[in-house]
Amino acid sequence: MDTILNKVVLITGASSGIGEATARVLCRAGASVVLGARRTERLQKVVQELKEEGGQAEYCTLDVTNLEQMHEFVAFAQQKFGRVDVFINNAGVMPLSPLDSYKVEEWNQMIDVNIRGVLHGIASGLPVMEKQQTGHFINIASVGAYQVSPTAAVYCATKFAVRAITEGLRQESSGHIQVTLVSPGVTESELADHISDEQARAEMKEYRRISIPASAIANAILYAIEQPQEVDINEIIIRPTATS
Ligand code: NDP
Repeated sequence: MDTILNKVVLITGASSGIGEATARVLCRAGASVVLGARRTERLQKVVQELKEEGGQAEYCTLDVTNLEQMHEFVAFAQQKFGRVDVFINNAGVMPLSPLDSYKVEEWNQMIDVNIRGVLHGIASGLPVMEKQQTGHFINIASVGAYQVSPTAAVYCATKFAVRAITEGLRQESSGHIQVTLVSPGVTESELADHISDEQARAEMKEYRRISIPASAIANAILYAIEQPQEVDINEIIIRPTATS
């Protein structure tokens, strides 16, 4: 097992849910974490708590749809901690709805955050890692990257895309870069809070009763990071044991 001690880990979408839990788990395991998201007050609170526990943590306001801000996020991490060892592309949105409700703005938002956001993370983080000759990308997809369900066509399309981009990154990046796709099943978070379609929202509320804690996903991420550099954990799927 490699040690996570002193690794510099950047996490997008770290203001709630899986990103926040991952920041906490990795920081407590000894990583220096840099949290990014739009809700600065939330990031500030998490970072303050981690620092009070003796952890190394910083935050930077980040909208992943903005490439300039993504470059600034990476530059901020380099300035604070000197390097970028792990980049976790976690930020995502899931405003589910049937296609024939034509919520085009929400489709575009999912494409912008879930796909463009991941590409921006790669565009900003990969050059740094290639220069360092070491690094690890962890992209958060979903079980929706493997199967499509009603109301989730666009969301699943974005997660199929994340899976394709991650496999492409694995094939194309130099032999020094580890690449991991993490695909959660239903997990406790704020993800479903932004569903505007009433029926999809009600169905999701019912479905989410079997949610597993966000720390379960964070522990899987920790496992991938702890591997020695020559070992690349390519895909992890984590679902609740319960099926309905
Ligand atoms: P949350 O809604 O709790 O977290 C989503 C995070 O993404 C928030 O921190 C939010 O921060 C951030 N975010 C959204 N838009 C942007 C943006 N434009 N720029 C920067 N950050 C943004 O949900 P989860 O923790 O569940 O989601 C994390 C990831 O896990 C997502 O990619 C999601 O698709 C995936 N996932 C989740 C599952 C689940 O059941 N929870 C299942 C499968 C996959 P802010 O609003 O402050 O910017």
